[in-house]
Order: sequence, then C-alpha cells, then structure tokens
Amino acid sequence: MEVIDFHTHLVTAEDLNSTLIEFYKATNPEMLTRIDNFKDPRVTVEFLKKQGVKYAVVLAEYAPATTYCVSTERVIEYCRGQDMLIPFANINPNIHRELAKKLEEYVTELGVKGLKLLPSYQFFYLNEARIYPIYAKAEELKIPVLIHIGSSTFKGTRMKYCDPIQLDDIAVDFPNLKIIMAHSGRGFWYDACFFLSRFHKNVYMEISGLPPKNLINYFPELDKNGEKVVFGSDWPAIPSSIRENVEVIKSLPLSTKTIEGILYKNAERILFG
Ligand SMILES: [Zn+2]
Repeated sequence: MEVIDFHTHLVTAEDLNSTLIEFYKATNPEMLTRIDNFKDPRVTVEFLKKQGVKYAVVLAEYAPATTYCVSTERVIEYCRGQDMLIPFANINPNIHRELAKKLEEYVTELGVKGLKLLPSYQFFYLNEARIYPIYAKAEELKIPVLIHIGSSTFKGTRMKYCDPIQLDDIAVDFPNLKIIMAHSGRGFWYDACFFLSRFHKNVYMEISGLPPKNLINYFPELDKNGEKVVFGSDWPAIPSSIRENVEVIKSLPLSTKTIEGILYKNAERILFG
C-alpha cells in the first residue's frame, strides 16, 4: 500500500525559538540532535523511502512568536530536484505583505503546490476580511490550503484563532477551495471537524499529531468519511516512526477502501487532481 505524508516539517535546531528549545530539552532532547541530521534533502528522501513514503508535503512555517521561522523560499530550495518532496508555502498575515500576490508568485514562478496557515501560532482569525484574498487566490490557482486546527503544547499558542467553526465561512464563500484541517481538531474539536468535513464537499481531515490507535475513539464513524481523511505524520517531531503509524492505521477496524484512501488516494486526488 502506498503512502503520501501530508504533513512534514523542514526545521533545524538553530531555527527554533528559545521557548521551543527549552520545551524540547525538557520533553524530547533527542529531537534536537535528530532534526539536524536532515539538513540535506537527499538524506530526507532516503529516510522517507525507507519509511514507505512515496510523496511528502514539506511545510514552511513563519511563526517567530511561538515556534520558528523557516521561510517558503527555503522550503522551495530544499525540495528542488527532489520529486517526492512537495513544497507548501506559509504566509504570516502579521508579517508578510501583499499576501495574494506573494502566493501567486510562489505557485506560478517557484513551483509551490499548496499553502499552510497557522492561525493559533501567528494570531489571526481565519475568517478575517484581510485573509480572504489568500483564499480567493488559492481557489483560482487550484491549490489546497492546509490549516492548523487543534491544540498545541507550544508556549504562546492561542487556540481561539483556530476554532474550526470559522471554516464554515470559508467553505461557503470559496466552495471550490480544498481546505484540509491539520490535526483534525486535536483536543476538543473532533466532532466539529468530523461534521464540517462531512458537510462541506471540499473540507478534509488530516490526522497528524493524533495517536493512530485512538482514531476510532476520536471519530467513531470514521469509515463513513473514508474519502475525506488524509494521513500526515508531523515528522520529524514525532515520538514514533512514520512506518509505525502507518502500520497502526492498517490494523484499525476500517474498510480497505478507507485505509487506502487515508494513506494515499485522498491525498493523491487533492495534490495531483
Ligand atoms: Zn506540524
């Protein structure tokens, strides 16, 4: 069974802000040395292949107040020439200017394939008027938007900004925009995310950061939504390996169609049409 990982990060130890360095020193010190092994994209590609991954989305993240800054340009450079690595831009509406224009340049000139938004790390509401030109442009360019929806242990996170109910506005106003909810409402929004993805044709769930063995507890009717869920690992910041997570998903009491959809086919449709 093939695998697309919809959620991986490019990050090195020196990118992390001081609160995040303290956080990892206290919770997962091995992580700080591990991430530096992947500065060379060829190492990442070999690693991902060994994990059974065929394509991986690589995310930019520009969130100085909460996590780290890895620019879209750096992600583009990292993925260049590596067919299996799929670059996603990140735009921080509180720092970057001319948001839609920037996105268009990334996609049409630099080969970016999607956009990540981080409202709870970058402090904006998803349905603010100033964000709307980004959605209009993404819809026009036919690229998916992956949005962090759920809790986070990182200091300074403000969860009010990623309340999934805001996505109802966006899905209504941009019906052809593919919206993917990273973490599927981790914490107390599982039902809301499940409902939104059932209700809106182009709203999807993405399951990174959730222990795969608990998926059925969080989403008891997951099989009914098998065409709207995509796998992501959140690698390299994960306690287990990507392969282990994939194996657990394969063993869940779900139909083969759902499992194939989660691990590959749904992401394939979103990314490659
Ligand atoms: Zn992540």
